[in-house]
Amino acid sequence: MQIAIIGAGMSGLTCARQLLEQGHQVTVFEKSHNVSGRMSTRQTELGGFDHGAQYFTAKSPAFKKAVATWSKDGWVAPWKGRFVTLENGKSKPAGANGSGVRHVGVPGMREIGVQLAHELDVRSAQRVERIEPLGKQWLLIVQSDTVPISATAGPFDAVVVAVPADQAAGLLRVAPALAEQAASTHLVPCWSLMLAFQESLELGFDGAWVNGSRLAWLAHDASKPGRRPGEHWVGQASVAWSVEHLEDDPERAKEKLLKAFHEATNTHVQPVYAAVHRWRYAQAAQPLAGDCLWDAALRIGACGDWFAAGLDGAGRIENAWLSGAAMAQRLT
Ligand SMILES: Cc1cc2nc3c(=O)[nH]c(=O)nc-3n(C[C@H](O)[C@H](O)[C@H](O)COP(=O)(O)OP(=O)(O)OC[C@H]3O[C@@H](n4cnc5c(N)ncnc54)[C@H](O)[C@@H]3O)c2cc1C
Repeated sequence: MQIAIIGAGMSGLTCARQLLEQGHQVTVFEKSHNVSGRMSTRQTELGGFDHGAQYFTAKSPAFKKAVATWSKDGWVAPWKGRFVTLENGKSKPAGANGSGVRHVGVPGMREIGVQLAHELDVRSAQRVERIEPLGKQWLLIVQSDTVPISATAGPFDAVVVAVPADQAAGLLRVAPALAEQAASTHLVPCWSLMLAFQESLELGFDGAWVNGSRLAWLAHDASKPGRRPGEHWVGQASVAWSVEHLEDDPERAKEKLLKAFHEATNTHVQPVYAAVHRWRYAQAAQPLAGDCLWDAALRIGACGDWFAAGLDGAGRIENAWLSGAAMAQRLT
């Protein structure tokens, strides 16, 4: 079959690779210039910052097996950092949060997507605007960064939508029952803060869950394996703050989050680099039951971290992998 996958994050790439291995012709459309989606690394003159997903855990046997292969191949490694909980500038042991192996991409989270995309036909900087039927097949209406007018791609025998639920609902309009399910959940936003300091902050931890602050999480990015040494920090605003300040001007958000960083860490040092990134769709707080959506008659489906896929809690990288793998199974 000729199959189109929309989205080159963990779920889309996992699905695409497995379909390719089954002998299908697969084309992946990605609106960004880079693959990996929310497992992203911002490249700067000072080095990279993992400003999306911070690390991942593996609970299911199938994902554990995949991670073991990636570790063997050297593009994933455990992050053996010091993890704490911070409150009022004071740290205490991380408790239940602090247990388990945390895996990261090497030299950055983005590397996971880069490696998964090897040998795949990925059309980057190509945003799919809509899906249209052509007899029993599908056409994609695509807008590229370089050409100002929309183009048509296809026909495809099947289409997989591997984007956040809020965006999937729009693309799935051609399959109303699936669109309705996608629209029944949504992803919460997150403002990320990236900071580099010339001098050592000597904070005594590498990852911290923060209580009572605009920032909910802090990570010493440079403490992850394979990173350039230095004082590179990533902060993530709480869901509540991110929702309330979703439409803030980035400069204003940066100012407020830097202040929160200083308060949470009891430091006053000014960074040599500071930037923010707004993730409008960061994480599915309540993933849908099941592992993916598939309409066998229409041959259209959806996968992503917004499916529980047998796991507890909010959508994570493992959900995305399990969902992408399940989607590929449905297509066989
Ligand atoms: C700030 C932040 C921190 C996180 N921390 C963690 C963590 O520590 N651990 C963890 O396990 N998970 C974490 N997550 C969640 C994790 O990143 C996601 O669960 C996972 O990466 C989702 O993968 P996905 O393939 O489902 O979606 P995505 O990664 O979002 O991939 C979807 C892709 O589709 C593309 N796309 C969207 N619309 C279109 C279109 N119309 N046409 C073409 N392409 C399109 C997007 O550009 C994107 O590349 C975090 C996420 C964020 C944002």
